[in-house]
Amino acid sequence: MSVDTIEKLFIAELKDLYSAENQITKALPKMVKAAMSADLKKAFESHLRETEGQIERLVEICNILGTTPKGKSCAGMKGVLSEGSEMLQEVEEGDVRDAALISAAQRVEHLEMAAYGTVRTYAQLLGQPQVAKLLDETFEEEKAADQKLTSISQKVNAQAKQNA
Ligand code: FE
Ligand code: ZN
Ligand code: FE
Repeated sequence: MSVDTIEKLFIAELKDLYSAENQITKALPKMVKAAMSADLKKAFESHLRETEGQIERLVEICNILGTTPKGKSCAGMKGVLSEGSEMLQEVEEGDVRDAALISAAQRVEHLEMAAYGTVRTYAQLLGQPQVAKLLDETFEEEKAADQKLTSISQKVNAQAKQNA
């Protein structure tokens, strides 16, 4: 697909997000298993359910726009997730690994926030308020997930520090 308009760029970025979200649904169950903190496990579990809803939203958006969300593979998310799983293998089980899981997960959330902020802006620019609203719902979920992780990290990082 040759991208020479904002409309095409918009669709390309939605497809990229669809791939990114699908990769995340495969990574999150592993993160649930790896987490020791009950709060962290719960946060990953609930974000997994949220992520499934976000995928549905992308399908709905692509229906509205008369396209399909399939067809792209997000190399950025692949890289972020592969670094996260590499780090998990290096870090010993326990509080320090929970801290590492939070670090990896916040990279994912920030990548998503950047991408959803951009496509939300494109939707507004292109006169698609219904689509912009759906993208804003996901953006807010990603932001809340990131904030939740920051709040859990306060306890986890303090406990990890005592492991010295
Ligand atoms: Fe997401
Ligand atoms: Zn990407
Ligand atoms: Fe997310």
